[in-house]
Amino acid sequence: MSESTCLFCKIARGDIPAEIIFENNDVVAFRDIDAKAPTHALIIPRQHISTINDLSDGDAGRVGQLFLAARDIAVDIGVAESGYRVVMNCNEDGGQSVFHIHLHMLAGRQLDWPPG
Ligand code: AMP
Repeated sequence: MSESTCLFCKIARGDIPAEIIFENNDVVAFRDIDAKAPTHALIIPRQHISTINDLSDGDAGRVGQLFLAARDIAVDIGVAESGYRVVMNCNEDGGQSVFHIHLHMLAGRQLDWPPG
């Protein structure tokens, strides 16, 4: 999957519409089109990285930025204290369907654990 055909690269570039809730130079966050909670955001790096397996040591800061965005979004939407979940799926058994790494951020209801 190249950057030119990647769905999330297109969203990050603004070529495909999405409901953006946070962005900075490195990260974009937008609402999941098939929300599994009252708030379900996807937090992505602008840089195309297909899966967790494709991360290099030099990406540590880029991945950290995803969590810092989650922290800021949680404060923005008022769930920092009540709680929320962030999760990143990898490949088939992990349930990954879009091959541009993304942190799911789910909030606004009691979430079950473990996932089914
Ligand atoms: P995953 O299965 O972990 O790869 O998550 C991919 C997520 O992307 C799913 O939760 C989808 O609902 C979501 N998704 C797919 N297409 C879009 C889109 N055009 N805009 C927003 N979210 C999307």
